[in-house]
This record gives sequence, structure tokens and C-alpha cells, in this order.
Amino acid sequence: MTGAIDIGGTKIAVGLVAPEGRVIICKSFSTHEEPSPTCAARRIAELLDRCRSELATPLDGIGIGCTGPVDPITGTVEDVDLLPGWNGFRLVDEMQHLLGVSAAMENDADAAALAEAQWGGGRGSTRFLYVTVGTGIGVSLLLDGIIYRGAGGAHPEAGHQTIDASGPVCYCGATGCWEVLASGPAMARWAIENTYKDDSLPLETSAREVCRLARSGHPVAKLAIAREAHYLGVGIANLIGMFCPDCLVLGGGLMEESELFLDEACRVASSRCKLVPFGAVRIGKAALGSEAPLLGAARVWQMRQEGITKAMSCS
Ligand SMILES: [Zn+2]
Repeated sequence: MTGAIDIGGTKIAVGLVAPEGRVIICKSFSTHEEPSPTCAARRIAELLDRCRSELATPLDGIGIGCTGPVDPITGTVEDVDLLPGWNGFRLVDEMQHLLGVSAAMENDADAAALAEAQWGGGRGSTRFLYVTVGTGIGVSLLLDGIIYRGAGGAHPEAGHQTIDASGPVCYCGATGCWEVLASGPAMARWAIENTYKDDSLPLETSAREVCRLARSGHPVAKLAIAREAHYLGVGIANLIGMFCPDCLVLGGGLMEESELFLDEACRVASSRCKLVPFGAVRIGKAALGSEAPLLGAARVWQMRQEGITKAMSCS
């Protein structure tokens, strides 16, 4: 069994994953319950230990998917907007110390991409793009199954590509980036700001609620969905134009409502990709659903082991 840890801004989940890609047991707690990384790491270790006792099984190793940016080489959490106080925390070292087995970490988008490539919608792809659309937008590129890394091992932030430079300001430093226009909170915020007295939406309205309202015919919610489809499509077109992938899979919380906007997003993308073989791109929804983050975390550790084994056999 592989121990799996998914660290998000809202929730931290841990579980055990079988070699064939099945989550066997899973436990979670709210990220806000343990704001200190040291306390969070201790609680993660306790939960994983409980999982391993309940199943009476040893752990081969531990994989971690963490909302980014993270340093996958040193296993350090960097300056993550959603994890204040974690900057510089050596999470991989801490987990290895607490649980006595080896650990590896990647950005959560890369982790989910590895799982989709192995067990989900990206199987058989050699030029694979995975896009997660939820609280934020993350993009991962796998070339022949291997994570593409930038200089110094950096994870490229294609979720923050500029779509409309006159758009709202984002914490990434850009204005009108993809995330600030097309993430779940961005869609909800636009709907709230564009309703008036008679049909005003409460400030805490979620993207899920906007989708429900759109289904019931709420005019502004329907416009918010149309806007989402447009911006999602523009971002997809940019990715396909830049990378010519053979497969592009979309996952994340907002994709649970994708029947409202994905077809239109693909139409928008297609209309903007006349110079590249758009028809050769398999575009679809992630197949692993809510299990993707833990399966991805487990795959992070498995891939690192496979890499070590390959390197040893070459030397
Ligand atoms: Zn941004």
C-alpha cells in the first residue's frame, strides 16, 4: 500500500492506495483546524498511522500532492497563498521522520495528472495536458508520462496565463489571468456583482449555487455560465495552440457541472485553433473524480520509485 496525502487550501485528506489504483481507506480534516504546518504534519501522520493499523498493512512509501508552489526536489512547501505560515516547511522530511518511510511531493495539479495518465482519461497519451478547474486553475503537462518541469524544477503556472489584460487583479501579479476569470470563485463573484436589487445574490453564493440557479433559468446565472464557457474556451485554445497535445483532460470541482459549459468551451477553443490540429486533441472530463487527488499523491511516490529503479539499472 502507498500512503497518500492531499493538501489543499480547504481540506487535507490522507489515505491508502492499492498498487492497481484504488483508494482503500481515506480520512480528512479541515486545513483551518491546523494552521501550523508542524501540527498539521503530526495530525497527518496520526491519521495515516490509524489507516495502516485499521488495515493491518505496512506502508511502502508516501506520496504527497500539495497546492502549489512547492519544490518537488527538496520536498519543501513554498509561498502558497492558501497555506499561510507554511513557506519553507520541509514537509517531505517531516513525513519521513514521523512515519519512517520514504516520501515524495509534487504540486497537486501534477499529482492529479499522473493519476489520470495512469488510470484515467489520459491513458495512452504521450502529450498530455491536465487542467484542474476549481477554487483555482492548475495545469500540468506530461511528456511521455513524465512531468514537464521548468528551470530549477519549477511548475509552470499556465492557470495564470493572461486572458484579458484589462481584467481583475490576481494575487499572481497579473490582471485578467485565467484563474481570476474562469475559476469557480471567479464565476460566482461575477454573478454576485452583476445582479441587482430584484434578483440580488447573497455575497456567499458559491459557483455550485450559480450552476443550480442557471439550471432553473436565473438570467444572470445563465450569463455567468456563458462567460465561464467563453473564458474556459479561450484558455484551452491557448494551451492547445502552444503545446499541440494529443489529449487534454479537465478535472476539479467545477467540472462536476461541466455539462453546462464544456461543449461551448470546446466550440470557442476550436474556433481559435485554425493553425494547429485541433481535431487530433482528445478533450474530455477527468475520469477519476473525487479520488483523483489521493490517487495522484500515491502515483507521485510510485513514479519517484520507478525513476530511482530506472536510474539504478542504467548505472
Ligand atoms: Zn493569476
